[in-house]
Amino acid sequence: MLLTITNTRQPATDLGYLLHKHPARAQTFDLTFGSVHLFYPEATEERCTCSLLLDVDPIKLVRGRRKPAGGFALEQYVNDRPYVASSFMSVGIAEVLTSALNGKCRDRPELVDELLPLIAGIHSLPCRGGERIVRGLFEPLGYAVTVERLPLDPAFPEWGESGIYNLTLSGTVRLRDLLAHLYVLIPVLDDEKHYWVGDDEVEKLLHRGEGWLAGHPERDLIARRYLRHQGSLARNAVARLAEGDTADPDESAREKDKEEADVEVRIGLHQQRLEKVVEVLKESGAARVLDAGCGEGKLLRMLVGEKEFTEILGMDVSSRALEMASARMEKLPEKQRERVKLIQGALTYRDRRIAGYDAAAIVEVIEHLDADRLVTFEQAIFKHARPGTVVITTPNSEYNVMWPSLSAGRMRHRDHRFEWTRGEFEAWATRVAGAYGYSVRFLPVGPEDAAVGAPTQMGVFSR
Ligand code: SAH
Repeated sequence: MLLTITNTRQPATDLGYLLHKHPARAQTFDLTFGSVHLFYPEATEERCTCSLLLDVDPIKLVRGRRKPAGGFALEQYVNDRPYVASSFMSVGIAEVLTSALNGKCRDRPELVDELLPLIAGIHSLPCRGGERIVRGLFEPLGYAVTVERLPLDPAFPEWGESGIYNLTLSGTVRLRDLLAHLYVLIPVLDDEKHYWVGDDEVEKLLHRGEGWLAGHPERDLIARRYLRHQGSLARNAVARLAEGDTADPDESAREKDKEEADVEVRIGLHQQRLEKVVEVLKESGAARVLDAGCGEGKLLRMLVGEKEFTEILGMDVSSRALEMASARMEKLPEKQRERVKLIQGALTYRDRRIAGYDAAAIVEVIEHLDADRLVTFEQAIFKHARPGTVVITTPNSEYNVMWPSLSAGRMRHRDHRFEWTRGEFEAWATRVAGAYGYSVRFLPVGPEDAAVGAPTQMGVFSR
């Protein structure tokens, strides 16, 4: 079976640096279960593809192992393992592309963090659960997925289809993330682990799933299948993932929030911002409204006071924030409370629960996302959830000079990954609007200064 990875950003042969494998060389690596042949079928400025061909040796597989209980006499020898992509492919990736998977690049270290237009082709992959599961695993990570189901035997079409697929995944991703996704998800699709699952498998899963698995909508299925249905291990992994999920926003959030609040309080900026969001949402005529990254639920509280908002959904990745929001909702009269729902979820994943709302407010959230997550956020909101109106606010970094307590060059909140000037926000918003069929206008929020503008900037996107 074959895995191909293609880069189309010029010079496409940068892929060779990232993989630590020269495009002009074909190499063979001997592993315990067979060999991996690595070669580049094409390597031009425009397009460069690296292939990993896995050659599983059924005799090597069996050597030194006891016959498993059950099964038929020759099962160890007669099975599909030599012919399909499976956890052997993951082992191949980890052994042959170790540096790339670990995000190391000796000669061109800057390439490691770059988002590249990559295409992965996985040939002959057994997918338990079929196309629905394939899409459910890869689409939330931002890939466009093509699925081709193979016939049992092309010579006998009447025999029907097999459970084996060819997949193509295209996305703008870091190579190391693509490799980590493949490393974890190929065995999950195959659902047939070849070796004993022990405690260190949990460590491997958590290590390779870092940064993307905790908030994945299919997290539990992934853990369960990766750990080959070992209930206790899977529960342990899920619990630890859930902890990691909220650790960052929760643990140090109180402290960080307080700092930002101190800066904002003098001008009542938080309140002004929320009032402005409510005003814009009312103007849009929306009835069903999503508050994504709702935090402690201050905006939800205000929305519920306006009769025209008949259905309000608050979503946040942090369970601490949701608990506080929930406590706030508890205080409302029954009639109001039943118009609000709270869910836990990450904005960086495609999520059907947030699709189809009239409007979405995303208030002071995007600056908490890493640059590569921002790309999946764009797709999750503008391509998949597609609210009629989207209101996004974020700090205007030009205004920071107006705050004497902020030392030069510091951001307003220690968890902010970036703060944009008006030019930067407008360039981003205009590109996103254009890409997904929206128009966008910009509004200042808070006291406006002639030179540096207002402290908060707002983009209002409409379809
Ligand atoms: N909108 C609220 C909270 C802003 S603070 C307000 O204006 O008061 C940012 C919030 O975004 C936090 O509650 C944090 O938990 C949430 N958040 C950060 N990353 C997120 C993600 N990927 N998906 C969903 N929420 C996220």
